[in-house]
Amino acid sequence: MSPATAYPHLLAPLDLGFTTLPNRVLMGSMHTGLEDGRKHFPAMAAYFAERARGGVGLMVTGGFAPNIAGWTKPLAGTLATSAAARRHRVVTDAVHAEGGRIALQILHTGRYGYHPFCVAPSRIKSPISPFAPYELSARGIERQIRAFLRCATLAREAGYDGVEVMGSEGYFINQFLVTHTNHRTDAWGGAYENRMRLPVEIVSRMREAVGRDFIIIYRLSMLDLIPDGSSWDEVVQLAKAVTQAGATILNTGIGWHEARVPTIATSVPRGAFTWVTKKMRTALRAQGITIPLVTSNRINTPEVGEQVLADGCADMVSLARPLLADPEFVLKARQGRAQDINTCIACNQACLDHAFKNELATCLVNPRAVRETELVIRSSAQRKRFAVVGAGPAGLSAATTLAERGHEVHLFDGSERIGGQFNLAKRIPGKEEFHETLRYFGRRIELTGVRLHLNTRVGSDALIAGKYDGVLLATGVVPRDPKIPGQEAANVLSYIDVLLHGKPVGERVVVIGAGGIGFDIAEFLVTPPGHSPTMNLHEWLAEWGVADPETVRGGVVRPQPAPPARKVTLLQRKPGKLGKNLGKTTGWIHRAALQMKQVEMIGGVNYERITPGGLLVTYGEQRRDGQLIECDTVVLCAGQVPLRELQAPLVAAGVAVHLIGGADEAAELDAKRAIDQGTRLAASL
Ligand code: FAD
Ligand code: NAP
Ligand code: SF4
Repeated sequence: MSPATAYPHLLAPLDLGFTTLPNRVLMGSMHTGLEDGRKHFPAMAAYFAERARGGVGLMVTGGFAPNIAGWTKPLAGTLATSAAARRHRVVTDAVHAEGGRIALQILHTGRYGYHPFCVAPSRIKSPISPFAPYELSARGIERQIRAFLRCATLAREAGYDGVEVMGSEGYFINQFLVTHTNHRTDAWGGAYENRMRLPVEIVSRMREAVGRDFIIIYRLSMLDLIPDGSSWDEVVQLAKAVTQAGATILNTGIGWHEARVPTIATSVPRGAFTWVTKKMRTALRAQGITIPLVTSNRINTPEVGEQVLADGCADMVSLARPLLADPEFVLKARQGRAQDINTCIACNQACLDHAFKNELATCLVNPRAVRETELVIRSSAQRKRFAVVGAGPAGLSAATTLAERGHEVHLFDGSERIGGQFNLAKRIPGKEEFHETLRYFGRRIELTGVRLHLNTRVGSDALIAGKYDGVLLATGVVPRDPKIPGQEAANVLSYIDVLLHGKPVGERVVVIGAGGIGFDIAEFLVTPPGHSPTMNLHEWLAEWGVADPETVRGGVVRPQPAPPARKVTLLQRKPGKLGKNLGKTTGWIHRAALQMKQVEMIGGVNYERITPGGLLVTYGEQRRDGQLIECDTVVLCAGQVPLRELQAPLVAAGVAVHLIGGADEAAELDAKRAIDQGTRLAASL
């Protein structure tokens, strides 16, 4: 089979009448933070140009506000003047020079705006912003519509190929559509015809303003996932109306930001919501409406994209984070090199979490993302010899980057496989995507010519005798010893015993330590062996209470979690809520998942002693209220400390030693830091 036919649907051109897209991949809008400062435009140009070079059919920028009222936060990126439009030229020119196409997303946040000037159909504060919005007058609404039109006209002036009107995710337009947020009694509220007037007017007047040969994507909330959300009939009615008003493409939006259903996290099954777009496509086709539909969420491999299109779910697929992870996604698919794709693992750790912390986004598996002008991997003028000890994320990224630059690299690991702790992480239900990173690095080792020495626990003598130009210690971490009396007993296991060695665990378990690993172990233990709801869409939808929107408004019902496989108690010494330091955008999912499995979470405990019957704890500084938490097994997840026993002898022998990843610093270590540090060091040697 020739490479071009491996993904015939994904790589087929799409004729929009006035222009033809080269393939069916749309790079979905992502807020990277580059939108929010004039100084970032050259970096934004490089970021999009790299992805245009990688062959994406059509890209959409992060959201730009059409006016101050629509800001995401104070001084957020805004396109409201010709001077601002001129600044975008560097972006559109760079994309077009690479043969790409780009649309600007117009994002009005309404009551989600994190600033005091936010506006909405009604004065109803959102649960995710401290600011109550001003209720708009009819004149105020007209001003917002004009701002949308001005923004689209300026986008055209700036050289964009189109715009995306953000009508989903619970933002401004969405807030007009549902009675949950629209309590108006005038011509913009009440009956659905009134509530949907705003998007229809915006699109029809925008089409008039920008002309026929300009792409207007309308992002339609097909599944609100909130109580009192839109009914299915309403969503279909709106789809028809915005199509007739002049939209070129309909994109899929799933879930409002305030929804309590995960929509893009790694535990969400791949392609979990494509059935919603398919339902819409079927409804529209039945009425003779053939507007191209884009489906979205957790499509991260060419295989999934191809399958979704072959199944008739949509006409295009939206990949957002997967193109942060690998700008050459489409190119590699076209060249039959899907195995070389650096797959997005949907962790959110460096993209969405950064955006929500007001930091520039990047990518855990690709630290060059959004750093294209700063982190440049150049061939080395001189070929040197390096030893990298440890093939975890830090060592893998360093070794492959060094070899890519032309150095001779020997990568050692005491284990029989590469990956370090990722081999534990990949066993957690909902973290199956971690396999992909290991597959990717395995390929990178082959392609870059790294000499891999597995089952080789290397010592300092061998490293000194090797006469390397430098040794990178990526030896990771070892579990911290919590020194709890009784911990030597047979009923006490470490997370490594459980995840790597598969030691038997009893029916009632106490987990000591509620960091990332404690939460993951709890998730592992409440799930039946070898099972994962992430691998079973039907079960996953039931667990989170996602229903057919045709049967219930907004598509949410009461979650129906399967019973837990064990009784788990999760403990920490700090008082207060457990899991506070988990990911900004995913921590709530981990907490909710464990709550659904009746995991008891207790903070502020002292570990007094482990006995054959369980764990004896007391509470608070006074060590009061002694209590035996009965259990069959205690699992220790009490943090980690660096493993750097090789450092001193190597330094003493005059070897140039570099510490990376957990070997350098165990506190707050994660794979994001390990990969970033490994890559940056290797780029500089
Ligand atoms: P490690 O991954 O620990 O690798 C060190 C390697 O060095 C090992 O393979 C070891 O065999 C080898 N080694 C040590 N000494 C020698 C020697 N003398 N000779 C040869 N080889 C040697 N991070 C995230 O960012 N997101 C997550 O969702 C996430 N989930 C996790 C879930 C679990 C259950 C666990 C355990 C960890 C998770 N992590 C997660 C943490 C992440 O895996 C670590 O931060 C990361 O692996 C650290 O990378 P590293 O390369 O520094 O060390
Ligand atoms: P961690 O997040 O630092 O958590 C360690 C836990 O152990 C804490 O709950 C801590 O709480 C407890 N602890 C610390 N010292 C202790 C002691 N002496 N005795 C008993 N308990 C003690 O570390 P981790 O869970 O081992 O995870 C390691 C790294 O992997 C983390 O930095 C994390 O970022 C990363 N990781 C990330 C994810 C993810 O989803 N992003 C998942 C897994 C791991 P108290 O001190 O309050 O008891
Ligand atoms: Fe995907 Fe994680 Fe990278 Fe975000 S940080 S793009 S979720 S791999």
